[in-house]
Amino acid sequence: MRRPFVAGNWKMNLDLARGRELVGAICAGVKSASRVDVAVCPPYVYLASIAEVTRGSAVVVGSQDVYYESQGAFTGEVSAAMLADVGAQYVIIGHSERRHTIGHLEDDRMINLKVRATRRAGLVPILCIGETLSERKSSQTLDVLTYQVRAGLVGVTLDRPEQLVIAYEPVWAIGTGEVATPEQAQEAHAHTRSELRAVLGSVGDEIRILYGGSMKPDNAAVLLAQPDVDGGLIGGASLKADSFLGIVSAAVAATA
Ligand code: PEP
Repeated sequence: MRRPFVAGNWKMNLDLARGRELVGAICAGVKSASRVDVAVCPPYVYLASIAEVTRGSAVVVGSQDVYYESQGAFTGEVSAAMLADVGAQYVIIGHSERRHTIGHLEDDRMINLKVRATRRAGLVPILCIGETLSERKSSQTLDVLTYQVRAGLVGVTLDRPEQLVIAYEPVWAIGTGEVATPEQAQEAHAHTRSELRAVLGSVGDEIRILYGGSMKPDNAAVLLAQPDVDGGLIGGASLKADSFLGIVSAAVAATA
């Protein structure tokens, strides 16, 4: 069985004091013996400080983005090695807000370069994929997932399944309060897994595929009960310790 993984994407929220308080509460609530992996992804500028609070706990930190070059004249950017240097272990790549809404409008080629740079630095990419509402309405969901998986993983090889995480995040469900039904999530995850198998071989069976899109403590259990839903990438509900820990508990319960 794949070990569940719950990651919080703080986006551009909280300040340093509140972030440290939140992660302290999360560390206290996540028992080292629990059967899930847990990460929080604060803004770049708080990474080192938040990583320091997590030291000795079962919680690790990730970043919300990365740049694909290793060093040089790239004002404002941060390399994967720099992220590793301050204690990050995971990197969210290709989040829909970066693909569709923030001025950068990342394309799949850039996302692939980021995945490869992250792997080279020994960090684990959390590659986000997902269809827009109009793509779903026009029955393109599975084709979009095929394209994003294949384009995102060009030239990527793995020694172990833990070296890559995929997050299926239907764009219409992110921050909207609208959630994919368990059936919609399972269909998308199963399709994604078959693409992972086609691209990477049998290791695809062991790669964790997270669901993201308005996951909350009260809807987490039914989503996590789906055979190919291996955890969650959590936005809004990751900003409060009780709601984030509620989802972690649902993930622990799903392993029973
Ligand atoms: C996200 O931003 O990755 C996300 C899933 O957000 P939310 O949980 O708020 O929908």
